[in-house]
Amino acid sequence: MTKKDLDRYKKLLLKKKEEVSAAMRHIEKDALSQSPRDAAGDLSGYALHIADIATDSYDREFSLGLATNAQRILYEIDEALKRVVEKGFGNCLSCSKPINRRRLTAIPYASLCIACQSKEETKRRRSVSSSGGLAPEI
Ligand SMILES: [Zn+2]
Repeated sequence: MTKKDLDRYKKLLLKKKEEVSAAMRHIEKDALSQSPRDAAGDLSGYALHIADIATDSYDREFSLGLATNAQRILYEIDEALKRVVEKGFGNCLSCSKPINRRRLTAIPYASLCIACQSKEETKRRRSVSSSGGLAPEI
């Protein structure tokens, strides 16, 4: 990855960070607000920004979940910005192969390549289902 590429992704990350922070402030304000009608009307301007972490449904509990999700994304963005400075940005943290550029443009804070990401998700699903079941008796 060239310096020019890194600068481009850094800009993307900073832009994303700003968007997520703005969305999070908005979500938290709405979640604490006593007037759901105002909150819903007010949200329209942010619908695009939080489109990747939100759906249409909107209630207090959902908002708080979103705020948590937004917080996690902010953390991942900061980690990615660190990787831009310390080198290693754009490479998968698991297998060290370069992450697909289109994926990075869509999710500049991605830390895993698509192959490793789907492996992680399969693992997580399996551990959830196995922890819910009974341990085999030997
Ligand atoms: Zn990988």
